[in-house]
Amino acid sequence: MDSVRVAAAAPDAGPGPAWQSKCPWGAPSTTSISCSLADVMSEQLAKELQLEEENAAFPEVVAAAEGPFITGENIDTSSDLMLAQMLQMEFDREYDAQLRREEKKINGDSKVSISFENYRKVHPYDSDSSEDEVDWQDTRHDPYRADKPTTTPRRGFIGKGKDITTKHDEVVCGRKNTARMENFAPEFQVGDGIGMDLKLSNQVFNALKQHAYSEERRSARLHEKKEHSTAEKAVDPKTRLLLYKMVNSGMLETITGCISTGKESVVFHAYGGKSATEDKVIPPECAIKVFKTTLNEFKNRDKYIKDDYRFKDRFSKLNPRKIIRMWAEKEMHNLTRMQNAGIPCPQVVILKKHVLVMSFIGQDQVPAPKLKDVTLSSEDMKKAYYQILNMMQQLYRECNLVHADLSEYNMLWHDGKVWLIDVSQSVEPTHPHGLEFLFRDCRNVSQFFQKGGVTEALNERELFNAVSGLNITADNEVDFQAEIEALEKMNEDHVQNHGKKLSTFSSDGDPPIYDE
Ligand code: ADP
Ligand code: MN
Repeated sequence: MDSVRVAAAAPDAGPGPAWQSKCPWGAPSTTSISCSLADVMSEQLAKELQLEEENAAFPEVVAAAEGPFITGENIDTSSDLMLAQMLQMEFDREYDAQLRREEKKINGDSKVSISFENYRKVHPYDSDSSEDEVDWQDTRHDPYRADKPTTTPRRGFIGKGKDITTKHDEVVCGRKNTARMENFAPEFQVGDGIGMDLKLSNQVFNALKQHAYSEERRSARLHEKKEHSTAEKAVDPKTRLLLYKMVNSGMLETITGCISTGKESVVFHAYGGKSATEDKVIPPECAIKVFKTTLNEFKNRDKYIKDDYRFKDRFSKLNPRKIIRMWAEKEMHNLTRMQNAGIPCPQVVILKKHVLVMSFIGQDQVPAPKLKDVTLSSEDMKKAYYQILNMMQQLYRECNLVHADLSEYNMLWHDGKVWLIDVSQSVEPTHPHGLEFLFRDCRNVSQFFQKGGVTEALNERELFNAVSGLNITADNEVDFQAEIEALEKMNEDHVQNHGKKLSTFSSDGDPPIYDE
């Protein structure tokens, strides 16, 4: 059945109210309708975006969908699946309403009551009508920000046994306050499976997971969606569409939950699936970094990218959405450079717009701890220090990069070594502020390891020289900083005069390489 014909056939059914009275599931209340429409619309929006994206290949379909009965709200009924889902959702609602009546009848005034909650068809999130309607286009509402900061896990959600148990309890106890979960970090509704993960052996859990997964695949797509609705509310429809595509294509097996919600990104954990192409291997576990498409947080990062000559020509021509994609692109390029130099870092799997999929540093959904959160033996601490010193040198010389946000927050401890992450803001050393960024990195690293008891740790100025190979002799911070800025200015003048950058800063001979 073609959707266009459905829309065209509608006039036979008479005017709007008549159609409503003939509705096979009775006349639903206005609120339930509006909720239903909102649900469908977000799906529709995703659909529209997809259509738009696919080169407006079928513009007539979209146009035809704007029939006489889709007034005010621009609902595109261009797919039979969508119609079927709309119908199914209404039936489910009706079923649940009936269930609620039964429940009430059985319980009566009894002090002990039984709940049919678990037999409901519609996810409680969907049935809460008013609060869950988030206007995705409204950038004043930042869907990534948790309203209650305490509910945002600082790291791994496995470690958040409390959090998971809370969700679990909430499910068992009838999910009364589901609406409140909107304020949680954007976590995918994982039901009981994740809760079990804490109690069962990996083997049993994996078997369960596998089973649950294939079950889920078999069940209606609509239901699958309901399972994930909490997380969906945390990313905008475009992002949701991208994530769906990744799962639907089989590239990702399943997206399990959120690892981190930062100011500029949200990171999810996913189990890798199968690549469409033979040559590419998807890591068993992946991290999905979604760069925020709300713009305010990125304003203060302009200086990183605007002055990065690699992006200079493009910057002025781009709209803000594209600039955000550029952050993801930058992270991808930088990670690739690092990978090629053999620096331990996430391996890029795929970049789609502002969504970067990379290998997961950690195991069994538990991300590796940040250096700031892990207590290392003094031996490991020393080892970590020398490793970082080496990595900073490699980064500078082999990758021609300065991390520019290097600190114990962006270094993970995994497999007995340090892994560098979060390189979207990394710049080349000849960036107008590149050396200042490097100096700041050095300060963070020096302070962390000096406080951490590594007596061999160079001070920030020594570290700067050791990494850059420059030989700045100033023996105090202020003068040192001034020399750095003078070098940067020299480079800029060179750019002005010669139209291109120095390939590198000149140094007095080979810089010392620090080895263990
Ligand atoms: P932000 O800009 O928000 O700081 P990051 O890239 O630092 O973005 O990611 C935020 C957090 O997500 C990290 O501190 C880390 O805990 C986790 N994370 C990011 N990427 C990975 C990864 N590839 N593997 C494991 N955890 C990761
Ligand atoms: Mn970070």
